[in-house]
Amino acid sequence: MKKRIAIIGAGMAGIAAARTLIKAGHDVQVFEKSAGPGGRMATQNTPFGSFDKGAQYFTVRDARFAKALKEVPGTQAIVKPWSATGVRVLDAHGAVFEAAKPPKDPHFVAQPGMNALLMHWAQPLVAHQQLHIHTTIESIEVDAIHPSLWQLRAQSAPTTTGHTQSNNLSQEGVIHSGFDQVILAIPSAQAAQLLRRSSAKVHKTHFIQAIDKVEMGPCWTLMMAYPQASQPNLNRWGPQWNCARSIHHRIAWLSRESSKPARGGIERWTVQASTEWSLEHLEDSDERVKAKLLKGFAELTGIYAEPSFSQLHRWRYAKTLSPLGQSYQWNAKLGLGTCGDWHIGHRVEDAFVSGIALALEMLKP
Ligand SMILES: Cc1cc2nc3c(=O)[nH]c(=O)nc-3n(C[C@H](O)[C@H](O)[C@H](O)COP(=O)(O)OP(=O)(O)OC[C@H]3O[C@@H](n4cnc5c(N)ncnc54)[C@H](O)[C@@H]3O)c2cc1C
Repeated sequence: MKKRIAIIGAGMAGIAAARTLIKAGHDVQVFEKSAGPGGRMATQNTPFGSFDKGAQYFTVRDARFAKALKEVPGTQAIVKPWSATGVRVLDAHGAVFEAAKPPKDPHFVAQPGMNALLMHWAQPLVAHQQLHIHTTIESIEVDAIHPSLWQLRAQSAPTTTGHTQSNNLSQEGVIHSGFDQVILAIPSAQAAQLLRRSSAKVHKTHFIQAIDKVEMGPCWTLMMAYPQASQPNLNRWGPQWNCARSIHHRIAWLSRESSKPARGGIERWTVQASTEWSLEHLEDSDERVKAKLLKGFAELTGIYAEPSFSQLHRWRYAKTLSPLGQSYQWNAKLGLGTCGDWHIGHRVEDAFVSGIALALEMLKP
């Protein structure tokens, strides 16, 4: 029987689940608080070129992920190997602490930016007006007209690429109603907050108690552009490598954006702070964080020049530190489920696997 299903979150897990459920013939509506699909596979566009401010690359170990990347029309033109293979580890002064080894699995990126993959995969939802952007879901409630169904309360009127069965604008927000089933495909802490705000019937799932055991850490990310380094007579500027991990107390990862496919030639670097440092400095001012990360970057790369452009992004929930340990949560009786990377890991591929696994469980007779 055709079901009406709401998915909260248009990251990899939500979009993977949505595509599977749509393929099985269900009416799926996806609600996303930001301006488009992608989630932590995010791309920041700037006048100097784009930055992958979230996921840097992904691996493809799961056969179902490999199949989707191969078989969804148009995907092969978007997903490309990133040739900056062999990630070295630097010590606090930029010296090689651990030499680059050939990676166990190839690293892939989407082009022209990391968000291109999910923008492409979400295209059928956009075409059929099933993706509702700028729509923050505040709570899940028992449907006011049909108590056996669910309704979602959204923060504000959506800038929608779609429509829902009944949108009632009230002072308390917009109601999207008539759902047989609801999936939360958002980071663990946000899922727990949303569930806590939801009606008592939702709490019968005991999802909150399970989610509270999951830990996710933050990540301060700094994006920098050095157009002065892209002059044709300058052969090589800065380090001779394109990406590195580091044991510097502030910085965990650095990568040269311009080394990725279809990113343009302007020299650009993305720097990601370590979880510990990000946690310690989570509420610091942008100026302070930027100054500290710029100093760390200079220590690691020898690039002391002032960037022409720099921008910070604070990920409050970036990386799973301790996962749930099961691919998804599903309560068939209530028609409620959760998916997302944090169920099993901290990678793009984990999010895909979690989303697919939940959707397949929901399709069981
Ligand atoms: C800095 C950083 C670096 C990373 N590096 C890598 C890497 O190199 N390789 C790798 O494989 N992985 C990496 N990751 C992890 C990878 O990005 C994630 O594992 C994956 O993207 C998670 O997908 P998801 O669908 O589970 O969640 P998300 O991508 O977080 O998607 C959740 C979506 O839900 C939306 N949302 C949240 N709350 C609401 C609400 N109330 N209403 C509506 N919408 C809501 C959000 O806006 C978001 O779009 C990195 C992540 C970060 C932040």
